[in-house]
Amino acid sequence: MGSLEGVGVAVLYPLFALDAEGRRSARPRVARGSAAARNPASPACAGLVYTRGVKNSEPCPCRSGHPYGACCRPAHSGAVAPATCGALVRARYSAFALGDGEYLYATLAHDHPDRATEPEAVDARIAELSRAGRALKYMGVVVGDETETEALFLAKVFERGQDRSFAELSTFTRALDGEGGVGGALRYAGGTLLPRAALPRGMADGAGLRRDDFLALAATHKDTVRS
Ligand SMILES: [Zn+2]
Repeated sequence: MGSLEGVGVAVLYPLFALDAEGRRSARPRVARGSAAARNPASPACAGLVYTRGVKNSEPCPCRSGHPYGACCRPAHSGAVAPATCGALVRARYSAFALGDGEYLYATLAHDHPDRATEPEAVDARIAELSRAGRALKYMGVVVGDETETEALFLAKVFERGQDRSFAELSTFTRALDGEGGVGGALRYAGGTLLPRAALPRGMADGAGLRRDDFLALAATHKDTVRS
């Protein structure tokens, strides 16, 4: 990771291409002393950092409107495998927020480049993924068009008051090991990303996330990133 240049992209790529230290023990908090904390009108103000995890009864980091224990927690704990691409997008977004590298690693496609090629390198990869999203503040993820193998979403994240949000059309495969039942569990294979600044208004606010529109935009935009 880290091969991508430009505003936000170096942060964005590990965010959703990859993901338990400091595991969940306390409530999320808005960073104190930040510009966002001083200015309630700042959009960054609503972003949360999850340095101490989140309780089951607290809002899920993906901002689904459901408590963590009834949203992404069952996926993170291994109790269930997300049945749809959109559900896996949410679970991975929340895993980045919580620094859950084990989950992020486990949900990578078998041939994803962020998987370790040597068994002894697995722990290092998981640690990288655990750190990948720790500098960010999380405002939630909005899922748009999705199919059996794709999901288009807007991931809302801020870094030191800077908007690092992006839209991504992710692709997914089914695990080959039979995990997750018939057809295997969904795994993240890769995606096409555009920074929020490159999006038209309807997409930049999470509405109008349509696959065809996104692909047409990505085909012409110099900021497009493929992972
Ligand atoms: Zn969630």
